[in-house]
Amino acid sequence: MAEFPSTIFPKARARVEAMKEYHPPLGCRDAMRLDFNENTVACSPAVREVLARISTENLTRYPERAPVEAMVAAHLGLKPENVALTNGVDEAIHVLFEAFLDAGDELLLPVPTYTMYEVYATATDAKIVAVPAAGDLAFPFERLMAAILPKTKIVAIANPNSPAGSVATREQIVAIAERAPQAIVLVDEAYFHFYGETVMDLLGELPNLVVARTFSKAYGLAGLRVGLLASGVENMRWIRRVLSPYSVNQVALACLPAALSDSEYLVNYVAEVLAARTEFETALDAMGIRRWPSRANFVLVEIGAQHAEFVRRMSAAGVLVRDRSSDPVCDGCVRITVGTREQMRRAVAAMEAAKETIELSGVRR
Ligand code: PMP
Repeated sequence: MAEFPSTIFPKARARVEAMKEYHPPLGCRDAMRLDFNENTVACSPAVREVLARISTENLTRYPERAPVEAMVAAHLGLKPENVALTNGVDEAIHVLFEAFLDAGDELLLPVPTYTMYEVYATATDAKIVAVPAAGDLAFPFERLMAAILPKTKIVAIANPNSPAGSVATREQIVAIAERAPQAIVLVDEAYFHFYGETVMDLLGELPNLVVARTFSKAYGLAGLRVGLLASGVENMRWIRRVLSPYSVNQVALACLPAALSDSEYLVNYVAEVLAARTEFETALDAMGIRRWPSRANFVLVEIGAQHAEFVRRMSAAGVLVRDRSSDPVCDGCVRITVGTREQMRRAVAAMEAAKETIELSGVRR
């Protein structure tokens, strides 16, 4: 074999070279995990029972998604052709962008928001147009409407949005969809169960609406990786062209019917989180820590210059929280997932201890 020149490497696409690597701070998470907005308890015991019965044959076969997809569609009151299961909402975002974003197109992105929209959009030939929220981090409706152009191809709205838990109203979503009929309006309802409001019922009326949901949050199945996209058949046709038929694995497909059937588990978990959120917000107010109103299972707080030290102190006390200080408009901010009341009392105790020794400039005096 001829000697290989060690200085020549295959070049990646220019777009990919320009991308930053995204490394969420996973690492050692052997503590109370209030950093990724997961379910902080467990999935339904019905899912655990299915897992215990997974056979070797299950693992040997390629996954067959259609029957489970039909079941999930029925659960949502939709037809099977209107729903595609995906490997989490992350894959849903990826395939949607692959299917619709071309060179010269624009993606409108209210920011701050979920990181993966930018990651996947950067890999396409489209241009990202960020629409920043004001300091209250409310949905920047007027600015978003003004940014809609004929080349707007996707508007990506997380509803509720991360990191603040703010929401776009149904009327605002309809107005955006009507103003941009040439564009896909993605409404990412990852945190739907904690908010309770949806635009899924508008799919028949708004041909450009695409709704995403996940099993990673309230259902407690982030490790299984299941999400979905729902839309009209025209949009679903293009989405299915770029979606792998096998991306939702056999174990995940086997578990989904059990997860869907245990609605009592879901209702109880959501009720606990909402009670915990109210109690936690009251405690934050009592500590004088500035916070943003949230409709999801997390609360964004302003810690100030010592945000990184605060996150370290909380971690040392066994409570993982998420530094969001580098998000647009979020200087000095930390996001805290809401779990059970008991867990949030532990978090408050750790915050009070941290407050003893470090200055929290977000604290109102
Ligand atoms: N959308 C939003 C708004 C999120 O916050 C997250 C996860 N943090 C996701 C999607 C990803 O969900 P999944 O686990 O289904 O990929």
